[in-house]
Amino acid sequence: MKNIFLLLSLILICLQTNAQQNNSFACGLENFIAAARDKDPDYDKKMVEQEKLRSQWKNKDHKTTANVLTIPVVVHVVWNTITDSISVAQVASQIAVLNTDYMRLNADTSNTPSAFLPISANPKIQFCLAQTDPQGNPTNGITYKKTAKTSFAIVSGDTSIWHTVKGGYDGWDPSNYLNIWVADFGPLGGAGFWPGAVFAGHRQGVIVNHTFFGTTGSAIAPYNLGRTATHEIGHFLDLHHLWGDGGNNSSCTATDFCGDTPTQVAASQNCPTFPKTDACTNSAPGLNFMNFMDYPQDACRNMFTVDQVARMRACLEGGPRSSLLTSTVCSIASGVNEKLKTNTISIFPNPASHTIHVANISELSNIKLYDALGKIALELKAEQDLSIDVSSLAKGIYTLAIENKTGNVFRKVILAK
Ligand SMILES: [Zn+2]
Repeated sequence: MKNIFLLLSLILICLQTNAQQNNSFACGLENFIAAARDKDPDYDKKMVEQEKLRSQWKNKDHKTTANVLTIPVVVHVVWNTITDSISVAQVASQIAVLNTDYMRLNADTSNTPSAFLPISANPKIQFCLAQTDPQGNPTNGITYKKTAKTSFAIVSGDTSIWHTVKGGYDGWDPSNYLNIWVADFGPLGGAGFWPGAVFAGHRQGVIVNHTFFGTTGSAIAPYNLGRTATHEIGHFLDLHHLWGDGGNNSSCTATDFCGDTPTQVAASQNCPTFPKTDACTNSAPGLNFMNFMDYPQDACRNMFTVDQVARMRACLEGGPRSSLLTSTVCSIASGVNEKLKTNTISIFPNPASHTIHVANISELSNIKLYDALGKIALELKAEQDLSIDVSSLAKGIYTLAIENKTGNVFRKVILAK
């Protein structure tokens, strides 16, 4: 049991060597388990309590996936150079990926082998950039902070990314926002934090290296399809690595607490050929390496399973992330609308099929429609209300960005054909 609690512990830190140097992906979990246990004498006790809570969430009606759950997001860009001061478009491209991966609308679901289709599932989770900051002021859901630090060595125990006074940025109230810190994390691709007492507070969020974030700008292939954030947010919503987070599961006894994922020895790398087997699962269809909670390159992951979806939704519905579902920060700040007229913009119908109407544009604005991969599907300028012909675009979830001198507004737009 102790080993289970050890596994249950921690931050899930995913180390990834620089994509330009090496295309492999590795996890520094053991370092962080040891650090957390050294630091907190009650660590094991807290983990026992945490697992008791988990069993309570599981008893809820967590497999109901009829309703879409929405998580408000704020992205904190902590930058030192022009390169890591990533653009609004790069952020928008990442949100667009999340909004397709977590709706199973990603185009590469066609790559899910038919043998795994019965266990593939749609989380029905959406992400919105916050429109109200903790002080009640309007925001586009992105903060920018220049730092003197050239890199944040989290693997070496550097926690400054979470503290403004140390060159990082204080997270916003984690009960209302999913905080995503984007910075230069050296060799680290990203990290996600399980819910629970040990890592409570502002660290309850995810970090992503800017070179692994979104689909444009400073993102570097083969990790430039936004799947690092998809993976880390899986941890944030209580998911484990498929091999049980222990690094090497050669005894095949470790678990990710999901009954439908095949047991595997260790992380997959690069882009395996289906079917892939190992000592834990030695016959076809083999390993579920195309799962977002494994490590292959971005283009080679495309699914969550039924049990993973159940665990994530339980975490949100009655579990420790449930406050995010009642957060109102994706609504416009009250009392300040007149100052930011862009925030009064309305878009209808939504979902749309042929035409999107944009109302209440009052100044010259750049309007861009990003597709799920962060590519600009449409771009135009307008000074007043307009109708946009979207009849030639494929169905899916898009992000409409409206930028003008007053500010930026992002809206999720669904095209249903
Ligand atoms: Zn991970």
